[in-house]
Amino acid sequence: MAGYGGNTACVELTLSDGSELILDAGTGIRELGQARESSDAPVQVLLTHLHLDHIQGLMFFAPLFDPDSEVHVRGPAALDGPLLNRLARYISAPLAPVEMRELPAAVSFEEITTSSWTFGPATIEAAFVNHRGPTLGYRITDGDVTIAYIPDHEPALGQRLETSAADWISGLALAREADLLIHDAQYTDAQYAKAHVGWGHSAIGDAVTFARRSGARRLSLFHHDPEHDDALLDELTGEARAAAEGALEVDAAREGATLDLP
Ligand SMILES: [Zn+2]
Ligand SMILES: [Zn+2]
Repeated sequence: MAGYGGNTACVELTLSDGSELILDAGTGIRELGQARESSDAPVQVLLTHLHLDHIQGLMFFAPLFDPDSEVHVRGPAALDGPLLNRLARYISAPLAPVEMRELPAAVSFEEITTSSWTFGPATIEAAFVNHRGPTLGYRITDGDVTIAYIPDHEPALGQRLETSAADWISGLALAREADLLIHDAQYTDAQYAKAHVGWGHSAIGDAVTFARRSGARRLSLFHHDPEHDDALLDELTGEARAAAEGALEVDAAREGATLDLP
């Protein structure tokens, strides 16, 4: 995994005015936090959902332990209590050595649901998508550039992605005509069909079909299965490109990669 990396989900997005959004707080957020200064603008974190692989990095995120930092966390509302309480199930004894209330930074939590708002030069749309438990996908538009981030998603569950009406496909409105779609592609088509239908994640073939239906220009295969090593990911990316038939660009997300979207 030296090539594609092994950290869990975290994407840093720099907008046209230099302001930043952090999408999810998986273990990848640790290195990102080390690169920040106290004097930087408040940290803005958007969580898609609270599965451990998307919040695990918070305990290792330096700005949370810096009394001069401000961190704003937004994530999905849930029926079983406020976002703060749900995150505190992780950042509390016996799973962690500190409690939420002891974090030195100024931290705020805001629950979001299907909605849209502006942040700096960008418009952010959030919508619930098909996964296990309340999970949001995000669509972020800055000027003429749109990114859709749907890292944990099973739009093919109970659907024929090739033929279903667009309105009936989970997440498709978020991804419409996106310049970059970062989308779940955890399983091979065979693994998915054999043992993972209903697990909340996508077969790579379904990710490509979803991207084609959305009209996205570029697909970043994301949320690689931990059992898939670099060689297999290379092979699967080749198959995904073939399935895309030139309708869009396809790459596998790679840790530390920087994509410029002019
Ligand atoms: Zn998940
Ligand atoms: Zn996940």
